[in-house]
Amino acid sequence: MQLFTIFGNPVSHSKSPLMHNLTFKGLDYKACYSRYRLENGSKLRSKFFELNITGANITVPHKEEAFRACDELDEFAQKVEAVNTIIKKDNKLYGYNTDAPGFLKAIKEFKNIKKVLFLGAGGTAQSTSVVLKDAGYSVTILNRSAKRLEQYKAKGFQTYTFEDFKIEEFDLIVNMTSAGLEDNSLPCPIEILQQVVPISKACIDVIYGKDTPFLKFAKKHNRPTKDGSDMLLYQGVIAFEYFTNHKFSFEKIEKIMKKAFIL
Ligand code: NDP
Repeated sequence: MQLFTIFGNPVSHSKSPLMHNLTFKGLDYKACYSRYRLENGSKLRSKFFELNITGANITVPHKEEAFRACDELDEFAQKVEAVNTIIKKDNKLYGYNTDAPGFLKAIKEFKNIKKVLFLGAGGTAQSTSVVLKDAGYSVTILNRSAKRLEQYKAKGFQTYTFEDFKIEEFDLIVNMTSAGLEDNSLPCPIEILQQVVPISKACIDVIYGKDTPFLKFAKKHNRPTKDGSDMLLYQGVIAFEYFTNHKFSFEKIEKIMKKAFIL
């Protein structure tokens, strides 16, 4: 039996064990997926070998350590310097990023989107902004503090803090912050949202399973909305393809993994 896990801290809330175990069972694939609370990210590589696992997902706050822990990286993971999926082959660790393609697929239902505004500049914004840029979208980053914006500027993104933000029309507005995850805060001052949300085509929150203050605000302004559930599902389906060496089709995996969201 192959073993998989998710490394993170905290990790008790993660839906990934349910998503993957349900799908292993549904596809009659002999594997088991657990969770592992890892305090020190620099131990990720040694833990991986010690636990004798075949693959893993990596969540907050270890995606950058996971990038450093790998022997080989695919082109995209190399570019964004963040890894959320690792596979062991011939005693070597191979790293991938499935968050970003998962996000790209999740926004496909919104048509005529060109200009995207990201509220937040953390680890998730880091990979998703690059995948959107590569796919031809224009992405502007608005963040509470200036420090994290430097790396985005270096990659050619337009960046703002709340203080110097210039109002313009955006097709899609995405809450990429953790504002609303465990509190009732908006990701940016309401005065900014009042100017950009009513003229947008759609609003998305990457937080899942919750009507966040940001989503509530967008709904109040009659914008089409969606939460982060599809992003979570699709990153999981793509990780599952790596875990099982592409033995099953995306659609087959998705059909079963989806059920984890109603359990
Ligand atoms: P990080 O900790 O790397 O970044 C957090 C970002 O949020 C920073 O830009 C930070 O700003 C900003 N922020 C935090 N609190 C507030 C606040 N109260 N007001 C304004 N800005 C705030 O987090 P991640 O990028 O890893 O995660 C971001 C979100 O994405 C989380 O909610 C996470 O749950 C979600 N997520 C969803 C996934 C999915 O599959 N649906 C996958 C991965 C993540 P500053 O720089 O000023 O501190």
